[in-house]
Amino acid sequence: MNTLRAFATLQSHNLLEAAASDRAFSPASDLIDGILYGSSVQRRDGDLFAIIREANSKMLLIISRDANPGHDFTGTTIRATDGYTCKFVPFTDGNAAALRSAFSWTAPVSLANRPTTFGCGDRLGRATPGHLRAARNFRVAPVLAQQSIRELTLTGRTFNNVLNDVTWQVFQSGYTDGYGADADHLKNLDHIRAALDTGMTMITLDLSEVMRPAAITWSPAEIKAQFDNLPADVRQRVENDYANKTISLQGRAGTTAIGFSREDARLCAVMYTPALDFAREVYGILLAKRGADNFDLEMSIDETTTPTLPAHHLYIIRELQVRGVKVVSLAPRFIGEFQKGIDYVGDMEEFTRQFQTHTIIAQSHGNYKISVHSGSDKFSIFPVIGRITGGKFHEKTAGTSWLEAVRLVATQAPKLYRKCHKVALERLPDALKLYHITPQLDHIPSLGLLRDDELAGLMDLAPARQVLHVAYGYILEDPARKFEFFQVLDQFEEEHYKMLEKHFSHHMELLQIPRR
Ligand SMILES: [Zn+2]
Repeated sequence: MNTLRAFATLQSHNLLEAAASDRAFSPASDLIDGILYGSSVQRRDGDLFAIIREANSKMLLIISRDANPGHDFTGTTIRATDGYTCKFVPFTDGNAAALRSAFSWTAPVSLANRPTTFGCGDRLGRATPGHLRAARNFRVAPVLAQQSIRELTLTGRTFNNVLNDVTWQVFQSGYTDGYGADADHLKNLDHIRAALDTGMTMITLDLSEVMRPAAITWSPAEIKAQFDNLPADVRQRVENDYANKTISLQGRAGTTAIGFSREDARLCAVMYTPALDFAREVYGILLAKRGADNFDLEMSIDETTTPTLPAHHLYIIRELQVRGVKVVSLAPRFIGEFQKGIDYVGDMEEFTRQFQTHTIIAQSHGNYKISVHSGSDKFSIFPVIGRITGGKFHEKTAGTSWLEAVRLVATQAPKLYRKCHKVALERLPDALKLYHITPQLDHIPSLGLLRDDELAGLMDLAPARQVLHVAYGYILEDPARKFEFFQVLDQFEEEHYKMLEKHFSHHMELLQIPRR
């Protein structure tokens, strides 16, 4: 790292004097002199902190009159001119933790009190500044660190990697408004404990493996037989509170009435009782480790084969409440197809009707947020979501940022894109074991027929988007290819951020999130 150049840049922009004085200063927000991120410059007790980059590597620079600045950070200290000392701090795990202590806004927080939240899953750890450029223009709280176990496995990352990548980039962006960190789709206690130990603030509990969705195909006699095996208090409550009852609900989104036959009520009990008991156990661990209201619990029932009927949603939330479990958000599986990276496929009117009922259920049971999973690129239903919820919702995207990175590669490095595309097609059978997509492969043009300047257009074509969307693990598993891929992201950093800003602003605009 060229220490003298970074120091000279700070000096020539009068940032050293500004750091030592009380007067306000606001350096240019972009990369100054190709070495210093203007938006990253911070002052603390007379010391100046900034992120610098040279070639493709980044570091934190601390400049001080103190001979040994930034005690909590490990790095190399060099005496500069005019009595200043420079400390060069590499992006290690320990230094990321030190940064979160020194600048508390770089640590994730609970977003329970923020009505509109937006999950920006970033599989590469390079997208946060782009996400923030969009988020800071809208009245929305971003969840910047968000990965599922499946994503961590396929990319070889940990929750700690994800959180640390975001920490540095939040600092680089100078974003002080608070962000969330979502350990997405957790299914077991080991993963939950790991996520909590790392400091993730949002836990998305995936109940799909403890639910019994197959019960929906059983005969009344089979359901009755299973129902009779449930604990007596559950059976009694189900018979008293749900069987042959109609429950009237009222919320800001309207009124509705949801009826249960005796069979419906028993079916719900058979399908959900083990999952609800598991949720209670998890909630107890969260309370013990974090204390009340210090975490955001999301209940996820979206990764199942059948849509969550409003009656089932109502049953689940009531039974969670009976068990003392408080949720900040809940993700039903909505009617229609929510395939990754493409628009909604299904009956818009029926979706709107059911979405309204789901919203009324949430509003009348503690006013938690409805969470829209696989929310990437569902442009046709975004206006409905924004309007019906009145802006109280959680929108979760994951792969759409990855696809913007692929678009950048297609634009700037066509040869690399062609390799990635080939891998994606070859490994599709593996990906289909993990992801439910149904791309029309014969609609993807043969690469041999496309000119280099036509490749980026594939990212506007649904089947190509889907195939590339689920291929990230296979594309990145080859170290040489991964290295090349990241080189493109680093070399065209500004273009990458601009693409993400545009793409996420488009999401937020259609979701009717007001501009700041
Ligand atoms: Zn999900």
